[in-house]
Amino acid sequence: MRIGYGFDSHEFQSGVPLKIGGVTLPHHQGLAGHSDGDVLLHAITDALLGAVAAGDIGSYFPPSDPKWKGADSAIFLAEAVKRVRRAGYRVANVDTSLIMAAPKIGPHAKAIQARVAELLGVKPGQVGIKAKTPEGLNLDHAAVAHVVVLLEKAANKKSATKKKAKRVTSKRKR
Ligand code: MG
Repeated sequence: MRIGYGFDSHEFQSGVPLKIGGVTLPHHQGLAGHSDGDVLLHAITDALLGAVAAGDIGSYFPPSDPKWKGADSAIFLAEAVKRVRRAGYRVANVDTSLIMAAPKIGPHAKAIQARVAELLGVKPGQVGIKAKTPEGLNLDHAAVAHVVVLLEKAANKKSATKKKAKRVTSKRKR
């Protein structure tokens, strides 16, 4: 098993849509960023990459590269999911905490959970979406995300076939 942790923050900005966990939320401001500013998908991406010691989001998608301007952050997450698979792991569960003054995440939590699960190729029950307001932090101008992931070894198809073959052989002996 492997554990990964991710953090991200983005400042609120007028004139851009607010995207959180791959879902566009109704709000008068969005998040500034080189990509679509999806603070939650960025933190999940970093948590996954960290879990398999595969660097961070900036090493694959440098903000200096104009190619990623306005990019859908689902692309970043897909790369991290690929790295996890390549390393022989799969997501056991993800837990997230969003810290933002507005909008309220509660009414959208189920939609965010479903979309994140879809992007990760897991069930919604494997994705925790939690949110709180930044009490006493003077952070009303920004959105923050903390994420932890747990990975488990993916079943090795080859060894599963071998085990089956072994079982058949020992049955024959009896
Ligand atoms: Mg970011």
